[in-house]
Amino acid sequence: MIEKSQSHLPITFSMNPSKLKKVAILGSTGSIGTQALDVIEANPAAFGIELLTCHSNAQLIIAQGKKFLPNVVVVTDESIYKEVFNALDPLDIKVYAGMSAVNSAVQMDSIDIVLTALVGYAGLMPTINAIEAKKPIALANKETLVVAGEIIIELAKKNGVNIYPVDSEHSAIFQCLAGESQNPVEKIILTASGGPFRGKKTDFLRNVTKAQALKHPNWTMGAKITIDSATLMNKGLEVIEAKWLFGLKMDQIEVIVHPQSIIHSMVQFEDGSMKAQMGLPDMKLPIQYALGYPIRIESNFPRFNFMDHPQLSFEQPDRDSFRNLQLAYDAGISGGNHPCILNAANEVAVAAFLQDRIGFLQISEIIEKCLEKVTYLRAPKLEDLVNTDKETRHKANELIK
Ligand code: NDP
Ligand code: MG
Repeated sequence: MIEKSQSHLPITFSMNPSKLKKVAILGSTGSIGTQALDVIEANPAAFGIELLTCHSNAQLIIAQGKKFLPNVVVVTDESIYKEVFNALDPLDIKVYAGMSAVNSAVQMDSIDIVLTALVGYAGLMPTINAIEAKKPIALANKETLVVAGEIIIELAKKNGVNIYPVDSEHSAIFQCLAGESQNPVEKIILTASGGPFRGKKTDFLRNVTKAQALKHPNWTMGAKITIDSATLMNKGLEVIEAKWLFGLKMDQIEVIVHPQSIIHSMVQFEDGSMKAQMGLPDMKLPIQYALGYPIRIESNFPRFNFMDHPQLSFEQPDRDSFRNLQLAYDAGISGGNHPCILNAANEVAVAAFLQDRIGFLQISEIIEKCLEKVTYLRAPKLEDLVNTDKETRHKANELIK
């Protein structure tokens, strides 16, 4: 059962609603980053922008810098530095380049909350640096908790830092747990849309194209998470993310396919009562809830109407055709560096699929082979995970050649 002390949920209301929150957005040019800026633009009395970062989208970060006038902008692809610097320096915006600049910028005194909206393993070190500087985290970057959940949660506890989930399923669980700090959780149920290939079998999946896989039925997201949704790896990563965020055992976390994406996830308590959080699929709501917690800020987001959705349906995920979900469960159960291997192999395989270098089913094959070949470590330290990530990427790339 979940113990109060195991869970990493904030239990005190610490926000002063009259104070402007200064936000750092890591990955402001992405799907989550741009939607977060929409939320912030709509709530100028609640939020200001202190730091924006991106990798290589010079045009968009320049436009964002001009509009939101952050104190600092960091680009991690150094080749765009000059262009961004020339455009933003005259506006008195400090512009830096490189991951080490992201790692220092997140620690600026003026930042009140850090939204980690960059994609993949690249989110790990900035999140650690932000926690060490005692910044509350609005966490979209689930890969950070998959790779190093135990280390991150320990570090957050040590520094008294709250982690607010942005992922819609985890936000749903978080919302269901509001006011329930005395009540142990029996289990949680994460809902999955099933992605574009729901109901399809291996023979069909063997030949699916990148274009088909990128067409998600309910959500518009970055390319990597869209492919993860098509393979069900996204749900697997979310199971591991939930384990750490809510202090649960793997067997307390179930996945159910709910194609309409109206119920975002559910919690069952010890008395058998089940709470669900519902709404139209729109990431702005969980982003706003994480940034504004504990205040529910008034919004004009489209409202859900039961009569538009008279049928809500549920089915079991097909773990035989979509093997990534089972691989992720197994990695979550064996723990140690297995989730880190799973994540690194998946990042390499998804990138190769997006470059048309491998087929859809090979994604699972590469992950499985990496889990077999890379040495298992039961209690890895951060440096072990950094090495595991490197070694796995090397192995995965060899398998793709
Ligand atoms: P996107 O691909 O749309 O955006 C990624 C952002 O990260 C961009 O700003 C990109 O910059 C930046 N970035 C990419 N690579 C690097 C790198 N190596 N170093 C530093 N910055 C980098 O992703 P999403 O917004 O879809 O997803 C972001 C995170 O949120 C992921 O972890 C995802 O799993 C999670 N998430 C996303 C959801 C969604 O609806 N999109 C829902 C729930 C969780 P540039 O644009 O310059 O390349
Ligand atoms: Mg999600």
